[in-house]
Amino acid sequence: AIDVQQLHKYFGDNQVLKGIDFHVDNGQVVCVIGPSGSGKSTLLRCVNLLEQPTSGKIFVEGDEITDPDVHVDAIRSRIGMVFQQFNLFPHLTVLRNLTLAQQRVKGRGKDEAAQIARKNLEKVGLAAREDAYPAHLSGGQQQRIAIARALSMDPDMMLFDEPTSALDPELVGDVLGVMKDLAREGMTMMVVTHEMGFAREVGDKLVFMDGGVIVEEGDPVEVLANPQHERTQSFLSKVL
Ligand code: ATP
Ligand code: MG
Repeated sequence: AIDVQQLHKYFGDNQVLKGIDFHVDNGQVVCVIGPSGSGKSTLLRCVNLLEQPTSGKIFVEGDEITDPDVHVDAIRSRIGMVFQQFNLFPHLTVLRNLTLAQQRVKGRGKDEAAQIARKNLEKVGLAAREDAYPAHLSGGQQQRIAIARALSMDPDMMLFDEPTSALDPELVGDVLGVMKDLAREGMTMMVVTHEMGFAREVGDKLVFMDGGVIVEEGDPVEVLANPQHERTQSFLSKVL
């Protein structure tokens, strides 16, 4: 589970998160929507400690990760993150992309890491491509590799920041399919997305952010059909 309490984040004088509180239960899929610049990526990056919160607390499975004494690498390995840009290592094969951090961060041996990598490649439907280099794969395949790489660290939860926004439309479905499978298996997920169909179908909760605050949250079907706040209505009227 994830618990965020009174999270504030400044970049210089720019207050980007203005007191965010929310909770994600184990096995829940929470989708986050909102206009550009509303702080969605910053929120996710704080949960993964890629950004240092200015104030507030974040708990993962009851452990306070915002504690200054926390072991950052250990926390990150519990929280998988997938970005809009796939961030694969271009000079490494698919298999090596999946084994590198397992060996370096998890201390796994080469064979064990390869075995886990192959299991996750199979899960995303790309078992046959382990010797390929990222440049020889489609964007959708690269993103599925990025997901398999994150899963190979055995994360407690997965964060997705607009994972399909850089993809050609015909490749979006494959990536969303992998994410749906993960959700069905009970993975705890936070997903920043413009895919309202995914939010409606897979999401347990939909969070609408604007100007660094959560304006509205609730059951995705409810929020999308019957938004309570004027800002949510106005945003949804532009994207739906
Ligand atoms: P988008 O939909 O465009 O991805 P977002 O909701 O993810 O937007 P953020 O990327 O979290 O928004 O950015 C929120 C604000 O924080 C913006 O004003 C942005 O310029 C600022 N910001 C984000 N990262 C940094 C940084 N590393 N340094 C300075 N300002 C930043
Ligand atoms: Mg963003």
